[in-house]
Amino acid sequence: MALTLYNTLTRQKEPFEPLDPARVRMYVCGPTVYDYAHIGNARPVIVFDVLFRLLRHLYGPDHVTYVRNITDVDDKINARAAEDYPSLPLNEAIREVTKKTEAQFHEDMHALGALDPTAEPRATEHIEQMRVMIDRLIANGCAYVAKDHVLFHVASMPDYGKLSGRSLDEMIAGARVEVAPFKRDPMDFVLWKPSKPGEPSWPSPGGIEVPGRPGWHIECSAMSAAHLGETFDIHGGGIDLVFPHHENEIAQSRCAYRTTVMANYWLHNGFLQVEGEKMAKSLGNFVTVHELLTGWHSYAWPGEALRFNMLRTHYRQPLDWTLVGLDEAHKVLWDWYGDAENATPAAPVPMPVIEALGDDLNTPKVITELHRLHGAGHFEELRAALQFLGFSGERGKIERVRQDGADIANANEVDALIAARNAARKAKDFKEADRIRDELQAMGIEVKDAKDPKTGELVTTWEVAR
Ligand code: AMP
Ligand code: ZN
Repeated sequence: MALTLYNTLTRQKEPFEPLDPARVRMYVCGPTVYDYAHIGNARPVIVFDVLFRLLRHLYGPDHVTYVRNITDVDDKINARAAEDYPSLPLNEAIREVTKKTEAQFHEDMHALGALDPTAEPRATEHIEQMRVMIDRLIANGCAYVAKDHVLFHVASMPDYGKLSGRSLDEMIAGARVEVAPFKRDPMDFVLWKPSKPGEPSWPSPGGIEVPGRPGWHIECSAMSAAHLGETFDIHGGGIDLVFPHHENEIAQSRCAYRTTVMANYWLHNGFLQVEGEKMAKSLGNFVTVHELLTGWHSYAWPGEALRFNMLRTHYRQPLDWTLVGLDEAHKVLWDWYGDAENATPAAPVPMPVIEALGDDLNTPKVITELHRLHGAGHFEELRAALQFLGFSGERGKIERVRQDGADIANANEVDALIAARNAARKAKDFKEADRIRDELQAMGIEVKDAKDPKTGELVTTWEVAR
């Protein structure tokens, strides 16, 4: 079976040929552990989990190494630690934040049906490799020391910018590059920087006497090399990482090891937005995986519904996360599971499913095939395909639990008021509609209106205001 993947590096779909079929190697940039994972962060986890499953199917489960790192050195972590644990010494506070966030991340990703990667290296466990790599870059003439920092000299790499397809001039014009007087060139980026007193620090490379810490990009270059070698097969992440993060990873790894590529295939998932808008705390539409699993729009949603809703859109397309879409995803699974749960999964997994995945992970096509299997009454195949894709196929695992507040005497009363409000709106009696909204608000109920993107119909939901 052929596997083709869209490669950001060459801007085309290409047949996948691993360097060593006995050890297929994939690296995906993992979370920076300072806060709950939001639903956008879950997208690369789910997408690359599907690819991991497919690779295991094609090459054998023991012949695929999937590495997803944990970034536990980062300024955002330091800031969060100081804020959340002001009475603890900073290093202890950081450990609390990273430990707690990492455990939460694992819990959430398991709920989404994601397999554990083969290895999950932490940046703090690879500082020595980073130091060695930085010294190598200095020795190779690609990096220099300035004011206790080590900087990568972008001009030392003539084809810098190949992944993002930008020229150096465009990058300088478009990027918010940090201008520091000690940089030789504004595009030069940090490999190592001094730590402020109290901040995490390690002995520095490049003969720098004061202790310091690594920059973000070098973390992935060092960890991927330590676990997968100087050149490997697939490197993945969200589209926002193409520039500068992946561009800089490539520069560091290729210059340190004098190779022509860091990874042969670069895959990027599209961005996720919520109800048609960019997800942002300031817009009030920021939603974490934990929140979805425990209560969003009045329901605790099963992880499998989140996973399925994610896979209904092709991974390279932008994805609009909506209540209507999630509800629809849940209904489809509920329907399928009702028939699949009593069937014994068929072996092997249906070929059309594998073929659709082999076509650059075409999950919408896979779902069309699942609908066909269900419609034709092939419940054994349906169940096998579901399990292969990380779904249990059991209704008991996907109950959607209503999260009514204990202080609400009667949810029916709320529903009745919402129905009355919608009737008033339909009759264009907006004064009455607003009055009912205020009445609900006084009861501690927040009303949310959304439009079904397909039918244009108004869908109103409510939740207990927090
Ligand atoms: P971060 O913790 O911001 O480095 O993000 C972790 C991963 O989530 C990266 O692969 C990002 O590209 C990805 N990511 C972050 N936000 C979104 C989003 N809104 N949609 C899709 N992927 C995202
Ligand atoms: Zn990375």
